[in-house]
Amino acid sequence: MIDLHTHSTASDGRLSPTALIKRAAECGVTRLALTDHDTTAGVPEARDAATSYGIELIAGVEISATWRRRTLHIVGLNIDLEETTLASGLASHQALRIERARSIADRLARHGLRDGYTRAADAAQGGQITRAHFANLLVSDGICRDTAQAFKRFLRPGKPGYQRSEWSALESVIDWTHAAGGIAVLAHPFGYRFTGAWRRAAVGAFAAGGGDGLEICTGVSTIDQESQSARDAYAHGLFGSKGSDFHSPEQFWLEIGRVRELPKNVVPIRLAG
Ligand code: AMP
Ligand code: MN
Ligand code: MN
Ligand code: MN
Repeated sequence: MIDLHTHSTASDGRLSPTALIKRAAECGVTRLALTDHDTTAGVPEARDAATSYGIELIAGVEISATWRRRTLHIVGLNIDLEETTLASGLASHQALRIERARSIADRLARHGLRDGYTRAADAAQGGQITRAHFANLLVSDGICRDTAQAFKRFLRPGKPGYQRSEWSALESVIDWTHAAGGIAVLAHPFGYRFTGAWRRAAVGAFAAGGGDGLEICTGVSTIDQESQSARDAYAHGLFGSKGSDFHSPEQFWLEIGRVRELPKNVVPIRLAG
């Protein structure tokens, strides 16, 4: 059982790397990639835990990238944590995340959120601050009913708490991943609120930029979306990947490793080791 997309407390996941690995083992997962937003800080701890629980850990990261002024997520798998091109690229994104979080907090202050930056940083406990942390604050302060509403009313593009961020270009992010010996996968192609034409253009740009794989099966993809992605992967010569995008046990509809098998006509990405 394989899951190549998960989060820990190093970014917006609820479980520590060790707790994530323990839960993955309980779920019967044999190969797991930890892919936190713009950081590999959780990987060493996950690696140690993986050894104790008999899981094969793939060192990973989910990198934010800019394409046509939109944000795409690139999952880098089997990366060398020490490699400097990727490490300095991620460091630049980490600095951007701090700046962006300050700006989101300023915007949300006008809508009644007090002390947003400090509280988001506290909640992130030294990990990367994401919009998910602000969504949680909006909910705990009673400004929003749930995190879905927090995104819908405040945190999406065009909404008052949204701060655009100039992540590195798609092609650069693919290059960083390759520089670190990794495989670049375009995450959740149906997760960007794109039209079909935009989605296919994004997949095309990713392939043209040297990308390797498409995340075809996720924790929330439908069978119909998976077959469309399988066609997109075939059209652009991309391998297939699958990952739950697990963040928290509270998201009860989604579990580590609970992802369908790749459609038969898809060639799975190959990970050494
Ligand atoms: P960021 O990378 O800081 O822009 O944050 C993106 C993260 O916010 C995603 O990885 C999800 O974990 C979370 N997220 C995005 N949209 C939603 C949504 N509609 N409901 C709940 N969480 C979301
Ligand atoms: Mn996330
Ligand atoms: Mn993502
Ligand atoms: Mn993710």
